[in-house]
Amino acid sequence: MKYVVIGASAAGINGITAIRGHDKDGEIVLISEDDAIYSRCILHHYLSGERDEKALDFTTENFISENRVNWKRGVRAVQVDCGAKKVFLSGGSSESYDKLLIASGASTFFPPVKGMFNEDKTLAGGIYGLRTFADAKAIKAAAKKASGIAILGAGLIGIDAASGLLQYGKPITIIESCPNMLPSQLDGEAAAPYQKKFAEMGGRQYYGVKAEEITRGGDGTVNGVRLSSGEQIACDMLICCTGVRANTGFLEGSGLKMDAKGLVYNDRGETSESDVYGAGDVSGKNPIWPLAVKEGIVAGGNMAGGEETLDSFFASKSAIVFWGIKTLSLGTHTPAGPGYSTETEKDTGSYKKIIHKDGKIYGAIIQGDVSYAGVLTRLIAEKIDVSRVKKPLFKIDYSDFFALNENFEFTY
Ligand SMILES: Cc1cc2nc3c(=O)[nH]c(=O)nc-3n(C[C@H](O)[C@H](O)[C@H](O)COP(=O)(O)OP(=O)(O)OC[C@H]3O[C@@H](n4cnc5c(N)ncnc54)[C@H](O)[C@@H]3O)c2cc1C
Repeated sequence: MKYVVIGASAAGINGITAIRGHDKDGEIVLISEDDAIYSRCILHHYLSGERDEKALDFTTENFISENRVNWKRGVRAVQVDCGAKKVFLSGGSSESYDKLLIASGASTFFPPVKGMFNEDKTLAGGIYGLRTFADAKAIKAAAKKASGIAILGAGLIGIDAASGLLQYGKPITIIESCPNMLPSQLDGEAAAPYQKKFAEMGGRQYYGVKAEEITRGGDGTVNGVRLSSGEQIACDMLICCTGVRANTGFLEGSGLKMDAKGLVYNDRGETSESDVYGAGDVSGKNPIWPLAVKEGIVAGGNMAGGEETLDSFFASKSAIVFWGIKTLSLGTHTPAGPGYSTETEKDTGSYKKIIHKDGKIYGAIIQGDVSYAGVLTRLIAEKIDVSRVKKPLFKIDYSDFFALNENFEFTY
């Protein structure tokens, strides 16, 4: 049996581990545009100098040799022919497969703001994304020489970039169209301590404004950002952290089913074509590391004869730690419509919020003391009816759960 895996990150690497768990002898070919294996989640530690390139690798030391993987690194898959069971590679060669795992992930999305691109559609000089190790290397080199750094987007990646670059001592400005920092995870109250801390460290931040134009100097490189408020931010470096798009370009013409976001596959990782599997950010949905890992394990196991199904996975969970402030954000942080109730509790350095409706909790924020996090995660992920517990929601603990019924629901 010959397995070909496209992508050497969370989904692909865990897919390989799962394949080897079932098939000790099959041939495994790994194809990746990246020429190293690393965790994107800690790229900001490379920016800050806390980790070197080697310390970004999330695999065991001899992962490739121990798993007898033929790794074609720095090579791009340019086309897939599912009928002929072949992957065509940059450089003109091809690789046939019996089973194929597509784990090609996602890339930075650069929004079509005026001035972002040159006439030939390449990015203007001074503009960066933070997705790959190559990006991090380029950012690190440029940041040392920059006189001003602007970050477009105050989501997790934008704040990763900001925190990794703060110690360069350069003026850093965050530009975000939503009303606060980390808007997918935090409400204004929970974002406030992060914003305060960032300001104390010298960061500038603009919320509720859009980048209307990237302004450029005579040499064509970035010299500023004009905001929808009319203000002009001076910068010679702009990092775009405004989302990602699935890497599916090379699948065009393959016959594989896609939707508006990315590759379509089921909870066994099976795509629309036989013997072709998918896992991770290439789906374009819930682009988070733990889900890519789980999907890789499921797809890899099934490719090699296992019987695995992705169990219900609670993707809406973010553990946030920036500048010593800890927050757990679960589900939604703002009522989705009428009929929802909100409970909040605030103390010095601590903030808790629960959003519920008809006995079910739909979201929560816990900041500061996160000891209650385990109970809440369970209540939300399992959609447990809490209306029968006659005590304040923040006081519920495991002792309130008497037993589990056959539907794995807590009974009181
Ligand atoms: C800065 C940053 C911080 C993040 N922080 C967090 C976090 O704190 N928590 C969290 O849950 N998630 C975080 N994420 C998201 C997380 O990193 C992704 O969800 C995860 O990496 C997805 O893994 P993947 O294997 O699906 O794809 P990717 O990690 O995108 O890897 C794709 C692989 O496919 C290869 N590839 C792509 N196209 C081709 C091609 N045509 N041919 C050959 N190879 C190809 C690439 O080289 C790469 O090896 C972060 C992401 C970034 C960028």
